[in-house]
Amino acid sequence: NQGKNRVQLFNQDIADTLDRRQLIEQKLNHTLALQTFELAYMPILNTQTQRIEAVEVLLRCPHLSAEGIGPDEFIPVAESTGLIRMIDLNVIEQALERLVYYQREFGYQGRFCINISASQLSNDLFAANVGSLIYRFGVDPSKVEIEITETSMVDSSQKSMELLGQLKNLGVRLSLDDYGTGYTAFNQLLDYPVDCLKIDRSFVNELGKGDGERPPVVDIILALARWKQLEVVAEGVETQEQFQYLRQTECQMVQGFYFSKPLNQESFEAYLTEQVSL
Ligand code: C2E
Ligand code: CA
Ligand code: CA
Ligand code: CA
Repeated sequence: NQGKNRVQLFNQDIADTLDRRQLIEQKLNHTLALQTFELAYMPILNTQTQRIEAVEVLLRCPHLSAEGIGPDEFIPVAESTGLIRMIDLNVIEQALERLVYYQREFGYQGRFCINISASQLSNDLFAANVGSLIYRFGVDPSKVEIEITETSMVDSSQKSMELLGQLKNLGVRLSLDDYGTGYTAFNQLLDYPVDCLKIDRSFVNELGKGDGERPPVVDIILALARWKQLEVVAEGVETQEQFQYLRQTECQMVQGFYFSKPLNQESFEAYLTEQVSL
């Protein structure tokens, strides 16, 4: 299949990989049909007040987590099979429904941040679909933030830029996720209608580990954000030292295991109750 003079041994590893992909695809289809995807909620805190400012909604597939397979592994499969388009909409629908519920029942005032796959950037119907869900649930669009990975903007085609514009027109916020791992040029960043940069956790992880010979990458991103007047979330904060460092910068928001792991619905509700009564 690979053409002339090429030999690829069909070994057990490849067979196992195919089996695994097939298993994932099957379980995803199944979960979609039964509508049994679940959401996990990860608090994003204000760096100064340490109070909840937003929540990142993360997809969970119980049938796959039982096999030890998480989103880092199943989302690429969902992307290659095209299932991701339906899955993303399913997540948005559930998230908006929950947002309204938490506002009403728990007095939650923050934002909900929702991840979307790169493939939505070429989906002509995406913004319209999001718009009708926002309308259906009657949510304030400024409480909804859509996270797009920096890498998915790599070609920054006319079409992707159009989609971002359409989403902004709906009144939702946009953030560039895993920022610093892609290759956005400074001047390109100027053109993106985004509100927020999420510093990839690999750069946060570096904090406090350097030899002091060069300033942390985080500082460069913060300078860039100041220049474009963007808000910043530092992802993957795991230690007190990392937090202490970020606290002294202009980084407005932090997220990471140091504050909270992604919470299931029940734990998130307990967390909200505690926050609101503080
Ligand atoms: P992401 O958007 O960068 O989400 C953050 C991931 O980093 C989450 O993993 C979260 O558990 C993990 N994380 C957050 N703080 C820390 C920390 O302090 N330390 C460490 N080690 N990890 C931390 P998760 O839930 O496994 O999600 C993985 C990726 O799957 C996400 O990365 C995102 O790209 C994708 N994803 C998750 N939910 C959705 C979804 O609903 N739709 C789409 N299209 N993609 C999703
Ligand atoms: Ca994200
Ligand atoms: Ca991220
Ligand atoms: Ca990521």
